[in-house]
Amino acid sequence: MVGSFAERLVSAVAGTHAVINLDAYASNVQVMRNRLRKRGDELMMAVVKANAYGHGAVMCARTAIDAGADWLGVARIEEALQLRNHGITAPILVLGPFNPTLIRKAAEHDITVTIGAPDALDRILPALEDLPDNSLNVHLKIDTGMRRFGVMPDEAAEVARELTETPAIRYSGIFTHFATADAGDESFLVEQQKRFVETIYELIPEGLVPQLVHFSNSAASLRGTLPAELQHFTVMYRPGLALYGMSPSGDVPIPKEFHRVITVKTRLGRVFKLQRDEGVSYGLSHVASAPTMCGTLPIGYGDGLNRLLSNRGWMSMQGRRCPIIGRVCMDQTVIDINTISNPQSGDEVIVLGDGRANTMTPEDAAAKIDTINYEVTTAILPRVPRIFMSYEEVVAVEDLEGLIERG
Ligand SMILES: *Cc1c(COP(=O)(O)O)cnc(C)c1O
Repeated sequence: MVGSFAERLVSAVAGTHAVINLDAYASNVQVMRNRLRKRGDELMMAVVKANAYGHGAVMCARTAIDAGADWLGVARIEEALQLRNHGITAPILVLGPFNPTLIRKAAEHDITVTIGAPDALDRILPALEDLPDNSLNVHLKIDTGMRRFGVMPDEAAEVARELTETPAIRYSGIFTHFATADAGDESFLVEQQKRFVETIYELIPEGLVPQLVHFSNSAASLRGTLPAELQHFTVMYRPGLALYGMSPSGDVPIPKEFHRVITVKTRLGRVFKLQRDEGVSYGLSHVASAPTMCGTLPIGYGDGLNRLLSNRGWMSMQGRRCPIIGRVCMDQTVIDINTISNPQSGDEVIVLGDGRANTMTPEDAAAKIDTINYEVTTAILPRVPRIFMSYEEVVAVEDLEGLIERG
């Protein structure tokens, strides 16, 4: 029995949940788009892969398009189908390797896929045979140095020719991806741009370059690099991370006009006192050196709170920093609430925030566990309901029962 909007909102708010500020996201999309519009006709793809970096793919995708993004980027055909199933009609590109059994579905739902290996086309040709002409949109990815996915520059002409010779395919874009756009040293970024431009110029005489040319993740978009040689193409940028208000790196910090989108909250459960010399949680890895007030929270690595934050991370309550003590469990975690006045079961605790009020940011968490902010938010699992806010009202809730919008 699927609950009503109000029931699901009440139950989401009562436990661990993530609040997604769609106004902040829309504003970030607009800010980025305005920064990139140097010539006026540049396009922008909002990358919403991996459930919009944990922020909720459908609502973020819809918001991005309403805020002026031209395209949506995902990693898998399955992700694109999820967006189409929710009525999103904007152009969608599958950036990564795709599941070939879904290729007909991609064509039927007007989902553009990427050819990123010389033999990728052979694998889908049988499925394309009886499709109408131009029914599958394809972009060609050039590997200019990332060495992950893409056709090498010296293979590009042959693959591009095969694409143009396949009736079912409409070859409509060409792109590359940068390996070091977030690094202090720009030299390899410049080298990749050079290789990309050279490849394009080799393809031009054969008529193998489509009008749409794209590159630039968040870091490169923030650096605002557009090789002059590409001026007469329709150029598109592909930011993801920055649109969620997160910094690509210490060398490429997010500018102040961008705002964070996600806040993860939970509620205090059991409130108890740990006696001196008592250990807490699995392995008793934290032992109290003095009597300590503690709170047990309904969040753990089964929600995406990394277990390496055991005895390292913190949460915020009443604006105060409350260290995680003992091991993060699958479903529960204990924090030290000694500095909290009159803690009550049900009180709000901020797990991940924007850094104000002593909250731990995704960057703080990443630094503690030797990873990147991308992984911290992407790890937030579907068990954590997302509450989508716009103009200070809840406009949708997404939980294990699915997405429900306010009627
Ligand atoms: C993920 C991805 C992006 C977006 O990268 P961010 O660093 O999040 O801006 C752009 N292009 C491709 C091919 C990607 O895989």
